[in-house]
Amino acid sequence: MQADLQCPMCTSRSIENYFLGKHYYPKKNFNYQYVKCKHCSVAFVSPMPDEEILSEIYQQDHYYDVYRKEEDEKKAHSFQLRKDLEKLTEVFKLFSAEKGFKTFLDFGCGDGKFLAFARGFGLDVMGYEPIPLNAKQTSARIGEKVLSGSLSSLIETQKTFDFILLADVIEHLTNPKQVLEQLKKMLTPQGFFIFIVPLEAQINLGQAMIFLSRKMKRNIIQAPPYHVFLFSDHSLTNVLKIFHFQQIMQLSYSTDWPFIDNRGQSLIKRMIFQMLGRSNVIIGDHFFGRLLNLPNRTIVVAR
Ligand SMILES: [Zn+2]
Repeated sequence: MQADLQCPMCTSRSIENYFLGKHYYPKKNFNYQYVKCKHCSVAFVSPMPDEEILSEIYQQDHYYDVYRKEEDEKKAHSFQLRKDLEKLTEVFKLFSAEKGFKTFLDFGCGDGKFLAFARGFGLDVMGYEPIPLNAKQTSARIGEKVLSGSLSSLIETQKTFDFILLADVIEHLTNPKQVLEQLKKMLTPQGFFIFIVPLEAQINLGQAMIFLSRKMKRNIIQAPPYHVFLFSDHSLTNVLKIFHFQQIMQLSYSTDWPFIDNRGQSLIKRMIFQMLGRSNVIIGDHFFGRLLNLPNRTIVVAR
């Protein structure tokens, strides 16, 4: 761990090693690890990859295809999506009708699943996806406007929105504070952000299994650091406070990660199966995950 390491969220220099251990950047001859801020308790990758490395990682691994290629992964994703949409429905029901909310931006809209859903709720929707090709494909698929390009080009449209959704986005951002400050300019006066975030830094089944594997001294996982931040619901609340957000509601929930109804060969599962053995994962997930109902995702409404 570097001695001068500073938390990108709260700027504290009180940093400790985090239990995920060593990983490798793909095709790069150096290591990274996750560390944790003792002050705000957010975990992050060290060293923080630059944009060049990240775009290489995403292109090498065809990140956007990883979740669509295989039938099993589709099932898993649709299960997770179902749970996400349940929670999103609760949020929409609470806020949209009552306050006349009308406009919706999905920042990092991916294949447009949330855009289509929000449209079904009667909202005027727009997507943003940084990679032009992905934006174009999504736009063609769902027939809605999807902008691409830099964040500043998005701000320059001077559009405002009642809801800005960041689903599976904030943990990928190397500079979340700047991005959120910019995006705040696009909120209507009564509007707010909806964050959907995987909880990867608190006790849940996935973390327990990774911890166990480390105890078994098999702590080297060869996977790229897609998620440069790892949140717990506690650290996410802290971070929003640090960014001067007012948290309006939070619902944490379980998607039975790593997906009992899906025993396929996803990247993450291959990794876990390799570490712990397939049967342990399935048995562990089935009994403990369901028994304890440990949340591995959260939805937060804030402004
Ligand atoms: Zn911190």
